[in-house]
Amino acid sequence: MRRLNLLKNVYFVHISYRLSVGFTHFQKMTNVKPVVISGPSGVGKSTLLEQLMKEFPNSFAFSVSHTTRKPRKGEENGKHYHFVSHEAFQDLVSKNGFLEYTEFSGNCYGTSKRAVESIQETGRICILDVEINGVKSIKKSNLNARYIFVRPPSLDELAKRLHARGTESEESLKKRLDTADEAISYSEKPGVYDHIIINDNLTEAYNKLKDILMEDIKKLH
Ligand code: ADP
Ligand code: 5GP
Repeated sequence: MRRLNLLKNVYFVHISYRLSVGFTHFQKMTNVKPVVISGPSGVGKSTLLEQLMKEFPNSFAFSVSHTTRKPRKGEENGKHYHFVSHEAFQDLVSKNGFLEYTEFSGNCYGTSKRAVESIQETGRICILDVEINGVKSIKKSNLNARYIFVRPPSLDELAKRLHARGTESEESLKKRLDTADEAISYSEKPGVYDHIIINDNLTEAYNKLKDILMEDIKKLH
């Protein structure tokens, strides 16, 4: 009986090993890179990504970040974010568990190494939604990613969308709008982003996102 359990474990390790080796091989063959999406808060990143996940559930998976901010109505722990305390966040920082992390609008946000690895093991394309410091850190990491910036048609329209979403206090809204200018200026530097999508008309913006990613989707299947 003990031998059977031992054999089962060996078999399990072997299968896991083959899966991970197989995936690395698969990634090398297809060269499908993770996709980093960035853009000012309220520009429509989540809206676009939700549509993408719905249309291509087997091609993409969203890297679920950790955050110390409180969940909004409708947000689920483990799906939209891992909602954690400051202590738990710091604990993961001290254990070197983050690929990148930052403070944004008074809260901490971070991409755990585990979040990205667990998606890579499934063979899906990993999608990360991070702000400007996240983009800078990921560029310095060994994650060989593609970078897409989602730009608002204007700052006025951005403010309108954030107001209309109804999720922010006046203070949080102001902080978010204050960082939008910097994010847009950074996106204008040559070579930072591979693609810039202006999210004016949602359908057009989504079609542009799909166009950019279609080659990768085809490589997967
Ligand atoms: P982000 O994830 O970038 O913070 P959201 O996806 O939450 O932004 O979008 C912010 C708000 O703007 C939401 O209420 C969303 O429904 C709305 N929105 C998204 N795209 C458009 C668009 N093209 N035109 C008008 N409203 C939009
Ligand atoms: P929100 O509070 O609106 O969900 O997110 C605020 C900002 O944090 C957004 O610009 C989003 O891209 C960014 N963000 C979300 N998760 C992460 C993360 O793990 N790392 C970094 N650097 N930014 C993140």
